[in-house]
Amino acid sequence: MPAVVKCPTCGKDVSWVPENKFRPFCSHRCKQIDLGAWASEKYVIGGKPDETPSPDLPADEED
Ligand SMILES: [Zn+2]
Repeated sequence: MPAVVKCPTCGKDVSWVPENKFRPFCSHRCKQIDLGAWASEKYVIGGKPDETPSPDLPADEED
């Protein structure tokens, strides 16, 4: 009897079987969504900060 896990993306029940190459995801789409979320999070941490402007800093008076 195969184990059943929840798809991390959509919460659907997924059978943990060799036939399911997307496990623990239910589908290729959910796998891509999760990997994309991960990649963008890493990108934010290692890259530029949020685009929200800081009201305390003058925007164009640095020069
Ligand atoms: Zn899913």
